[in-house]
Amino acid sequence: MKRIVLFILVIILNQYSLSAQEGQFKEKEVFRNDDVVFRQIDGHTWVGTGKLVSNESMYLIEGNDKAILIDAGTKIAGLDKIVKSLTTRPVILIATHVHPDHTGTAVNCFPEIYLNAADIPNVPMFMPNYKGTIKYLKDGEIFDLGGRQIEVVFTPGHTPGSTSFIDKDAAYGFSGDAFNSYLLLTTNFSTLIASCERMADTLKKFGITHFYTGHYYGGDVGTLQLLNNMITLSKDILTGRREGKTNPGGMLGLNKSANAYGITINYSDAQMK
Ligand SMILES: [Zn+2]
Repeated sequence: MKRIVLFILVIILNQYSLSAQEGQFKEKEVFRNDDVVFRQIDGHTWVGTGKLVSNESMYLIEGNDKAILIDAGTKIAGLDKIVKSLTTRPVILIATHVHPDHTGTAVNCFPEIYLNAADIPNVPMFMPNYKGTIKYLKDGEIFDLGGRQIEVVFTPGHTPGSTSFIDKDAAYGFSGDAFNSYLLLTTNFSTLIASCERMADTLKKFGITHFYTGHYYGGDVGTLQLLNNMITLSKDILTGRREGKTNPGGMLGLNKSANAYGITINYSDAQMK
């Protein structure tokens, strides 16, 4: 099992274009060690950047009473102590989805992790050594952090359990790998289109102009335009107007890759519904 995880990680590492540069961050750096850099988005929100899988991102969101850590990176020693140096509030760990660059070894620093139940079938493969308690996220549930509320929005597509989080007060969204200019589609196009439409409605409803992705390079936030482009490309592929190029080495068995409107969707014939 460990070999499979390692194999998948190596594929992910090879496929994402790993840049020697960290990115173009405007956010102020507040913590750095060999595994991770944390930067401040605002006085109560931080982004952590891992170094192993294309800037795998973690987001620390603090309210008056509690804080949430969205994702745990790939391999970050003592992540619990690092976040404790940034916030004095008790920290709840939540994963956007089950993949190992979001639920890596640092999950073991936390006694509990919240995850969408639809990703549970892949827990034995991607989180085989987790000894803590897995709690299930509920669609529409609100985490009240004290003066700051984070709403859970299920956005399947990348994985069946991919989940986004909406911070209505700060007008931020956090989407993991659900919406990105480089997408791996492991469910199907209809599911993806529905999630893009739902997220687009959510952004409009709450006046959110951008959302943070699971691989943030600084400035490259998700927008309504990105969602609309993802919908257009998905429909192009589904209707046969556009076909992806064959990509035999595609990760997760996704052997086709379509690129247009500034985005790439990796899929296979199994996703054509
Ligand atoms: Zn992923």
